[in-house]
Amino acid sequence: MDRPSKRTVYLDHAATTPVDPRVVEAMLPFWTERYGNASSVYALGRDAHHALDRARQTVADILNCDPKEVIFTSCGTESDNLALRGVAFDRQRRIGKNHIITSPIEHHAISHTVEQLVDHFGFEATYVPVDRYGWVDPADVLEAIRPETALISIMYANNEVGTIEPIAEIGEIARAHKIPFHTDAVQAGGTLSLDVKALNVDLLSLSAHKFYGPKGVGVLYVRRGVSLLPMQTGGSHERNRRAGTENVAYATGLATALRLAYEEADAANARITSMRDRLIAGVLDRIPDSQLSGHPHQRLPNSASFLFKYIEGESILLNLDQAGIAASSGSACTSGSLEPSHVLMAMGFPHEIAHGSLRLTLGKDNVAEDVDYVLGILPEIVEKLRRMSPLYNPA
Ligand code: PLP
Repeated sequence: MDRPSKRTVYLDHAATTPVDPRVVEAMLPFWTERYGNASSVYALGRDAHHALDRARQTVADILNCDPKEVIFTSCGTESDNLALRGVAFDRQRRIGKNHIITSPIEHHAISHTVEQLVDHFGFEATYVPVDRYGWVDPADVLEAIRPETALISIMYANNEVGTIEPIAEIGEIARAHKIPFHTDAVQAGGTLSLDVKALNVDLLSLSAHKFYGPKGVGVLYVRRGVSLLPMQTGGSHERNRRAGTENVAYATGLATALRLAYEEADAANARITSMRDRLIAGVLDRIPDSQLSGHPHQRLPNSASFLFKYIEGESILLNLDQAGIAASSGSACTSGSLEPSHVLMAMGFPHEIAHGSLRLTLGKDNVAEDVDYVLGILPEIVEKLRRMSPLYNPA
């Protein structure tokens, strides 16, 4: 059989992305000659302060907001934590509201934070259901609203199955009820529109390492008028909402990566979507008892996620790795655990199906030959694993 030579194919861009060399270049001076503290009054400090202002303005332009509404954080997880705890504690303390609406398919940065608010801080949570595509119906959000609802948090796009949620519609409902609405846009950043006005969101989380920026820097957008109890106290950085000496190099890296991503998004999205569609069609066509997970159309341009009957996603990953292909069975944070994905379970898949999940997420460096390579190898891997499975009994 004609087998392509072994190559390295990175198909886990939902886990992280390589830093664009142009981003590295923009960051470098802030560790060497431009090392000032942005709070210092002398020229070196003022230079750092201006660089931070510029980074904040770049982010604000893309989010269609005021730079004062942009907080730099240490990662997407911190942005999510600050949004949820900051708003929940503020509203509990000031006006006695203690109910949170969220979905059962959120990233653990949201779901574990909500669980802690419920278990230790007197909050109640309603998890609105998702359909078999992982899609939240805005009508269910409306129905879940109570007089004591403090906050709604629904992700923009899911990290495991790529489904895009109806954020603008949910935001409209939240606004009509004067309830702050947060969206975790970590997977959407760099690809989908982040216009916070069109999206009707009050708070939005981003993480640079998902759009070719560095790991360890994020953004939380907080609309003017939404008050937040700071989680990190100290100096008056970030307008008293997040203390700690600003990381000018990383803020610059995030802003540069975000700007480049949106300057190049139209071309990149079109190219990646066409590779994704060929990958999806090829897998479903070549592998029996396989199905796409997540929404068939309302999905991230780079996301192809599958379920294969009779086998474990983890074994597929090990075999792909041997062939030089980096992939995931779900979110990077849960891979390695034997629990089936909470996302797939919430979408109604039974354990035995949810275990056979594979997530392939493309990026701007992938080429058509990468798709060919995967399509050449994956069917053999699935077939081999099925032959070893006691559950598999071909007619
Ligand atoms: N939210 C979502 C949807 C994610 O996919 C991730 C990371 O995978 C995070 C939050 C956490 O972001 P970070 O890795 O920057 O903490």
